[in-house]
Amino acid sequence: MRFRRLKLSGFKSFVEPAELRIEPGLTGIVGPNGCGKSNLLEAMRWVMGEGSPKSLRGGGMEDVIFAGTASRPARDFAEVSLLIEGDGAEAREREVTRRIERGAGSAYRLDGRDVRQKDVALLFADAATGAHSPALVSQGRIGAIIAAKPAERRQMLEEAAGIAGLHARRKDAEQK
Ligand code: ATP
Ligand code: MG
Repeated sequence: MRFRRLKLSGFKSFVEPAELRIEPGLTGIVGPNGCGKSNLLEAMRWVMGEGSPKSLRGGGMEDVIFAGTASRPARDFAEVSLLIEGDGAEAREREVTRRIERGAGSAYRLDGRDVRQKDVALLFADAATGAHSPALVSQGRIGAIIAAKPAERRQMLEEAAGIAGLHARRKDAEQK
């Protein structure tokens, strides 16, 4: 799976609609401290189904919505879209969108159709590119792996091995 484009609006410091095209090869993001580099990576994790506000440096999920500054009022929603391209038989482009509104929680769309968080999580888990996959290594994550309890570390390794999607499907089947 390849990431093609990230679109953000009202997400953290990205108050105005912004678009980041991701070309083949290595992409670097440079800029002064506090300009929003980490926020871009967090937007990617968030649209892929991240459920923990803490791992997005917030206290609650609504903290991803632009909180306002001295000169600009806060926004009442945040929306992030990620355009992806699959491999082989799945080579078509698809766009995943997540939107959160104050007081109304968040919702997902896949190519414009309403889907569940679970559908999005499975899409990325199957591609071994989940919210916590080794493809996205955020600050402090290496230390967290070393300090993790055995069960947590096992889950990280299963995600890295690309079998987290299988376990999610088995759990789903067992509940039915
Ligand atoms: P560094 O080089 O220090 O790692 P960075 O480029 O990664 O910096 P970020 O951490 O992505 O910067 O951006 C931090 C900025 O985002 C801060 O100015 C912070 O106030 C702003 N920010 C974070 N959340 C929100 C929010 N909900 N509303 C408005 N601004 C926000
Ligand atoms: Mg940073």
